[in-house]
This record gives sequence, C-alpha cells and structure tokens, in this order.
Amino acid sequence: MKKYDVIVIGAGPGGSVAAKEAAENGYSTCLIEKESLAEKGRYKACGGAIAWELVEEIDYPEEKIARVIESLELHHVDGENYSKKGKGAVVWRSEFDKFLTDLAISSGAELRDQEKVIRVERLNEIYQITTDKDRYNAKYLIAADGVTSTTLKLLKWPFFAKKDIILTITQEMKTTRDNIKQVLGDETVHLFFGIENFIPIGYAWLFPKREMITVGWGNQINLVKNSRSEFRKFSSLPFVKNALKNAKLEIFKPHLIPVGLRPKLYEDNVIAVGDAGGIVDPISGKGIPYAMMSGQIAIESIIQCEKKEKLDKIGIQYERSLDKKFLRILKAKRIARDKIYQNDESLKKFLSLWENHRSSEIVMRKLI
Ligand SMILES: Cc1cc2nc3c(=O)[nH]c(=O)nc-3n(C[C@H](O)[C@H](O)[C@H](O)COP(=O)(O)OP(=O)(O)OC[C@H]3O[C@@H](n4cnc5c(N)ncnc54)[C@H](O)[C@@H]3O)c2cc1C
Repeated sequence: MKKYDVIVIGAGPGGSVAAKEAAENGYSTCLIEKESLAEKGRYKACGGAIAWELVEEIDYPEEKIARVIESLELHHVDGENYSKKGKGAVVWRSEFDKFLTDLAISSGAELRDQEKVIRVERLNEIYQITTDKDRYNAKYLIAADGVTSTTLKLLKWPFFAKKDIILTITQEMKTTRDNIKQVLGDETVHLFFGIENFIPIGYAWLFPKREMITVGWGNQINLVKNSRSEFRKFSSLPFVKNALKNAKLEIFKPHLIPVGLRPKLYEDNVIAVGDAGGIVDPISGKGIPYAMMSGQIAIESIIQCEKKEKLDKIGIQYERSLDKKFLRILKAKRIARDKIYQNDESLKKFLSLWENHRSSEIVMRKLI
C-alpha cells in the first residue's frame, strides 16, 4: 500500500490548490481524481466567471481565457434591467482546472486520475483509501470531491440542509462569435431574475465563451417542481430565444451548488474544502476562488498546528482562518440571501444596489 502524508480527493480548484500547497511544503501528497485529466481535462458544468484579480494572481495565460468580461447585465423578467461594470474573465473549466492541477504536479504532488475513491477507513490514526484501482494510506485527508463528496459520505458526515442546495441545469450551446457579439455583446454576461413568475430563489444566466454560450438555470432544490419545464420557461424568454436561435446543443448537465455550510468542516484530520464544505457565495453561487482559498488554508492550518504541536486544534485553526479571510462575509450573505429573495421588491432593491456596490459591501453595511 502506498503511503503519503496527505491525500487530496478531487482535482477541482480546491483540491489542486491544496495538493500544490502540501507538496510545496514538503508533504508527500497524492491527488486522486475520478475523471480523466488527459489532454483537455474533465468537463465541469460551470459558468466559469472569475474576477480579473484572480486571473492576475495565478498568472492565468490570456490565450486560455474564453472571454474577457467588462460588464454584467441583470435582467428582471418584469422588464427592468440593471448594469454593473467590472472586469472579469470567463474560463472553460476543463482548461482552468487542468492548469491548477498541472501546478500541483510541478510542485511534486502525484496525480492518480481515472481513479474513483470507493472506500475510506481509519486504522490506528491512519486513513486507508481504496479506489477502483488501488489502495493508499495517509495521515491527513482533504475532501475536495465536490458538493456530493463521496469521501464525507463514506465517513458518515452529515449532508447539507435542503434549503442550502441549488439545483442547476447547464447547456453548452455552440454558436458563432458574430452571433455572440450581436445578441449578448462581446464582453457581457447576462443574469435573469424574477421571484413571482420565474425562479423563486435563484437565477438563470447566459455566459458567452469562445464560440459557445453557457446557458444556466438554478433554483433552491426544495422549491423545484419540474426542473426541465422551468428551464424551458427560461429558454423561451424572447431575449434568450433570440440568443440561442442558431445555436446547437453540445452538452446538457444538471449539477448542485451548495449555498450554506456543511454542518461540520473538520474531524479527525479530515478537512472539507470548497464545495464539499459548502464554501460558496450564497448570493451569486461563485465558488471557484473560495474553493482555492480554502484548499490553501486547509494545508496552512495543518502546518501551523504541527509547528505548535497542537494537532487537536486543526479544525479550530481552519475555521478561524477561513472566517478571517472571507467566511464571516459568506455567513452574513447566507442570512441576507433569504431577505433578498423574500419578494420581488427586495430583490429589485438588491439588484439596483448591486449596480454600484459589491455584494459584500451591501451585506456588511446592511444596505438591504
Ligand atoms: C452550473 C454552475 C455554475 C457555476 N458558475 C460559477 C461561476 O461562474 N463562477 C464561480 O466562481 N463558481 C461557479 N460555480 C461554482 C463552482 O463551480 C464550484 O464552487 C467549484 O467548482 C468548487 O470547486 P471544488 O474544487 O470544491 O469542487 P469541484 O470543482 O466540484 O471538483 C470536485 C472534483 O472531485 C472529483 N471527484 C468527485 N468524487 C470523486 C471520487 N469519489 N473520487 C475521486 N474524485 C472525485 C470530481 O470529478 C471533481 O473533479 C458554478 C457551479 C455550477 C454547478
């Protein structure tokens, strides 16, 4: 059985950053991913919108950016529109995630892709991981295997509350750059809202990529009656219909987004990062930067506690550092979210504030 200090399960942004950080700090590290990461990487249903600061921070190559974004159009189905300026990028997740995984490998992490974790056991304080191909053991486990985390399920950790889960549907629609330019604008992403007659708690979106429009729809799972027909309702809005007129469906994929924290984030040397822990912005569903930061903080917490010889404090250290960096704001956003989606009036108030403020500012300054 191969022995490591750290095993990271899931090579999304959270797992790859954790594996990089662990390997750079001298821990023998294994990164296990169930999908194939050869050539183009694995598909992930995602809008792929990231802030420009993140592009710069990780030095993400310009040629890998699917589209540079300068503005956000917020459409309320009642007909009111709001515009928000701000530079960002839309990335194709296979490429983006593979870029991060390659950084982890260059730092010394060993990748085992096309291996699915199927069993997790703990014997004498050592975790034994069984995949469909091999067996490994390690002192620390980083659960970075997404919202439905098999690792945490096998360890019998509690799942999210239903009101903290968004069901999404994604369609990748192939079209032309000219069409995107004409109907969406070269540098604009579009979000669609409307509580009473549209999506009670959630929103839908059209994100332009290179020659693809990512069409997405997401609603709180316990309020969904018939996801396909609700998605069709969005697709038949005149603006959306026009944008997708000559587009061809390439991929259709449902997926979940957690918008509240998992009841616990740490136990017995296992740390939940990214979607596995529900570390996502509850208002926008943005999760890429938080997965990355939590992956890094997870390893930093292990390092700090090992140095101080206080291994029983890893969980506390992890949550404290997350809070300090961003989690305190995400928790406040989770409370604000219920208020924003109370009715169309409060939603519109939020959208008009969002034109000129960051959502964190609206929430922390209690503008809503
Ligand atoms: C429709 C949609 C749109 C979104 N749009 C945006 C956006 O525009 N911007 C943004 O910032 N965020 C967005 N998000 C959120 C973002 O995609 C997630 O927050 C982010 O991917 C979380 O990263 P992660 O590393 O925690 O998990 P993931 O990216 O989910 O990675 C988990 C990995 O674990 C692997 N895995 C799972 N089970 C096993 C197993 N048993 N064994 C081995 N490997 C396993 C999976 O194959 C996967 O590669 C969106 C999400 C959805 C669903």
